[in-house]
This record gives sequence, C-alpha cells and structure tokens, in this order.
Amino acid sequence: MTEPQTSPSLAAIPPPPRPRPLKKIVSTCADVVRNTHDTVTLSFDVGEQPQYTAGQFISIDPKQFTELSRQIAFLEHLKGKKEKHRAYSMSSAPAERYVSITVKAEGFDAAHDNYPPLLSPFLASEGMKGRSVQFIGYTGAYVLPEGHDVITRQVLHLVAGSGIVPNYALLKDELLQAKHPSVKHTMVYVNKTADDVILLAELEELRARFPERLQLIHRITRAPESDDLSARGAHWLRGRPTSEWLKTIVPDPSTVWVYACGAAITEHQRAAAKVTGVPATPRFMEGVEEMLHALGVTKDRFKKEEFG
Ligand SMILES: Cc1cc2nc3c(=O)[nH]c(=O)nc-3n(C[C@H](O)[C@H](O)[C@H](O)COP(=O)(O)OP(=O)(O)OC[C@H]3O[C@@H](n4cnc5c(N)ncnc54)[C@H](O)[C@@H]3O)c2cc1C
Repeated sequence: MTEPQTSPSLAAIPPPPRPRPLKKIVSTCADVVRNTHDTVTLSFDVGEQPQYTAGQFISIDPKQFTELSRQIAFLEHLKGKKEKHRAYSMSSAPAERYVSITVKAEGFDAAHDNYPPLLSPFLASEGMKGRSVQFIGYTGAYVLPEGHDVITRQVLHLVAGSGIVPNYALLKDELLQAKHPSVKHTMVYVNKTADDVILLAELEELRARFPERLQLIHRITRAPESDDLSARGAHWLRGRPTSEWLKTIVPDPSTVWVYACGAAITEHQRAAAKVTGVPATPRFMEGVEEMLHALGVTKDRFKKEEFG
C-alpha cells in the first residue's frame, strides 16, 4: 500500500476485473426479515456460494408472479408498453451464504403518481418466504475497486432511504473482511424520520465494532419536535446535510472518494416536466451533485447509483 499523494492519480488503481456473464438464477426465498414499517430484507438460497461483487444488483421480472398478472395486464394497457424487470441492489456481501435484497414498498400518492407501484409492495411482504424466485444477476459498476487505498484514505457514503442498500454491502465487505485497513468510511445516512432508518441495528453494530474505521452520521429531515434526537446519540443530527457541514467531516476533498445512492428525478418526471413546463422537483441525488460540486469533489472521484 502506498501513501496517497497530494494529487493522486486514478490511473494508479488496477483495472476492474472482467464482468461475469449474466445468468438466470433460480432461488428459494429462505428468509424474510422486516426492517421498518415499509421495508423488508429477502434472502435467497441460490444452491451454491453466490459469485458477485459487493454493491452490485440483480433484476427481477414481475411477470413470474401469477398474483400480479391482472395488475400487469391493466398497467400495460394504461401505459401502452410492457412492464420491465426491476433492479434491486444486494444488501448481502459476497461472503454470505444467501443473496439478500432489501426492498422498500413504494407508496401511491394520487396527487403526484400516475400509477400505483407494481413490484415493490408485493416483494416487501412476509408472504415471500419459501417461494421460488427467479432473477438475473449479477451486475453493476457501483463497486469499490481493489487497490483504492493507493488513492484515498476516506470513502464518503452519502445515502438516503433505500439508497443505504448497496453502501451497506460495501461497508460490510470492507470492514468484516478487513480490506484496505488504511481507508476510513464516513457514512451520512439521510431519512425523513428515525422510524424510516433501514438496517439501523446492523449499521449501529458495525459502528460499535469498527470505531476506528467507520463514522456513521444520521441526518433526520422531518423528525417531529417530540423526538429528542440527541438522546439517540451525538451522531444523530436534525436537517439535511449541506456542503458547509460536509467540509467539517471531509478533511481533504481532493482525495476523498464518494459513493452516493438514493432517489433521483425519474425519466417519467422528466417527461412530465417537458409536457407541463414545470421543472421536476430535485430529489436527493440532485442535491448531492450540488453539494459535491461546492465541496470541490471532481466527477472522477464520485460514483452514484440512482433509484427511480
Ligand atoms: C440499480 C438499481 C438498484 C435498486 N435497488 C433498490 C433497492 O435496493 N431497494 C429498493 O427498494 N429499490 C431499489 N431500486 C428501485 C427499484 O428498481 C424499483 O424502481 C422500485 O422498487 C419501484 O418499483 P415498483 O415496481 O414497486 O414501482 P413502479 O411500478 O416502477 O412505479 C414506481 C413509480 O413510477 C411511476 N411510473 C411507473 N411507470 C410509469 C409510466 N409509464 N409513466 C409515468 N410514471 C410511471 C409510478 O406511478 C410510481 O410512482 C433500485 C433501482 C435501480 C435502478
């Protein structure tokens, strides 16, 4: 391992391994664990030790579930196009026996949404246990390359809501497997209320176990006044992160490496904005781009995964 330079070159990182071919995988849903009021983790037994890289995702075809067939026919009729696979990042790390995904059941708000969500409410139900589930995997470039300790001492994770999922896998893989021990991880996890925090117990356990390597900060944007966040610990803060605040936790923006994941303006929202002339409301990821720009983090040091 080499000391990072003042202007470390990204060319110092070895090239990524060749992607593995995508496969159709038949699994059995071995376990379902409820994480929050609207989120569950499903664990799939694929019959062997799965081969993937932490941070990658799988794709699930909603058409395999006969219970959804009428809803799919209706939505395809209304939308005038076929329903596609949905992508889900893996919350498991490669050393684990089962492939896990953590799914948030999307809501429906008639004031903003044209259609009800199709697959996520179905997956995020305890009824999945014991079922056969097919998916396509494993893919995605939201991974931490081997040898990143040559160019950084700090990975900053900026995540919101279900955006925690791939970053939780990255953290587990780095910390539990003692990879790149000179690199510290700073995770800023944004949620509306404390009850929305997904994988809370698991994250707090990592924080307690690896105090030298992991700094975890919860930012809660709509906590009711009755919720005394400080009673939960000094790492629980009220309000959104700002670029000024990020400066206090990123000592060297020129060498930090950022992994950001959360909701972004969707293709549907962009299309609607074109028709109405009313710009789409920026979501978490648009805010992240602005903050990082203000902080002076260059695009080549910033990886993002956007959830629609
Ligand atoms: C790489 C990646 C990883 C992801 N990982 C996760 C994860 O770990 N956990 C997780 O919970 N989610 C994850 N997602 C999001 C996930 O893929 C789904 O988008 C999410 O679960 C919603 O799917 P759905 O079928 O429930 O809703 P959908 O049926 O897709 O509907 C979602 C919204 O889109 C609107 N919509 C749909 N079709 C149209 C249309 N034709 N015109 C206008 N509006 C439309 C609906 O009104 C609704 O508001 C990930 C996404 C990506 C790209």
